[in-house]
Amino acid sequence: MTPQLSGRSETWQQALAQAITRPRELLQALDLDESLLAGAHAGAELFPLRVPRGFVSRMRKGDPHDPLLRQVLPLTAEARPQPGFSDDPVGDLASMTVPGLLHKYHGRALLITTGACAVHCRYCFRRHFPYGEAHTGGHHLASALDCIRADPGLHEIILSGGDPLSLSDERLSRITDELAGIGHVTRLRLHTRTAIVLPERITGAMVDWVSAWPGQVVIVVHANHANEINAPVIAALRQLREAGALLLNQAVILRGVNDSATALCDLSERLFAAGVLPYYLHLLDRVAGAAHFEVDRQEAAQLLAEAARRLPGYLLPRLACEEAGAASKTLIAPTDASDHRPVVENQRQIG
Ligand SMILES: *Cc1c(COP(=O)(O)O)cnc(C)c1O
Ligand code: SF4
Repeated sequence: MTPQLSGRSETWQQALAQAITRPRELLQALDLDESLLAGAHAGAELFPLRVPRGFVSRMRKGDPHDPLLRQVLPLTAEARPQPGFSDDPVGDLASMTVPGLLHKYHGRALLITTGACAVHCRYCFRRHFPYGEAHTGGHHLASALDCIRADPGLHEIILSGGDPLSLSDERLSRITDELAGIGHVTRLRLHTRTAIVLPERITGAMVDWVSAWPGQVVIVVHANHANEINAPVIAALRQLREAGALLLNQAVILRGVNDSATALCDLSERLFAAGVLPYYLHLLDRVAGAAHFEVDRQEAAQLLAEAARRLPGYLLPRLACEEAGAASKTLIAPTDASDHRPVVENQRQIG
């Protein structure tokens, strides 16, 4: 790791501000060929490049196919329209009652606290989301909280975004303090990729409000490949665990990133070593610009079945997708794992 790429000693705001946003700089940092530049510029026109230097330091130099690079490098392919790929594939806008509050599933609702993220993932289903109007910044927070207060059936509030850890500790603890004051909200959940891509963000102040929150706290991080989890990430996750949070991971199955049983098993093992249990493995949401990442349902189910033969049950994520209008995420596997097993193996299990 070059000193230029580390930056652990700086504040997280500095590390965030120093993220790479210019395609040329990313290519130079990784000794990559200039021929990738035109495509990177074209893709970045649609959704800007953004990647923290600490995340770049986990990529292999000189390898245009690096699984971490692939998640952040803009490509010309993003500009090609593909049938079936749209701007709001999961129908988020339809289920937004108050700006920034998504109540799609029983007992839990999701607060879009900010549109900002520490990293821009090329496959993100929210790359076209109209964040300008639709998050709980400013006056929208009060009406979202009123809505939560008025619904005693809501037991769990999910802080999402964008990424809630893009907010300052002050702003975050203001939101969580408000939620702590609502008797029927007993669980707080955070969906964050920042803990993975910018572990500097896990500050003492953040850890303090996690441990001070009166109910249970679940933190769902987002790593797609084992190489994302390095020593600073492990240290940050340990602090969150010690503060009493349950740590889970959600990943997306992505062509060229984790589309092999080995990559999936390595990710699960590495997560567990860092104290995190795999939760969801999502099929790609069919968002315009991300078609080149798609692994279809059947292939994904086969990969998961193969992973199921190698992993203890608790390290197998649930393969799921999101369908507009459904009452929960749609579970694809493991549902009836015996479907994918040779008959002989089944008999041995029964006998
Ligand atoms: C995914 C999601 C949730 C959480 O679903 P779980 O199955 O509980 O993880 C909640 N609300 C919305 C709008 C979601 O998209
Ligand atoms: S961190 Fe999450 S919300 Fe932000 S760009 Fe990546 S996938 Fe999308």
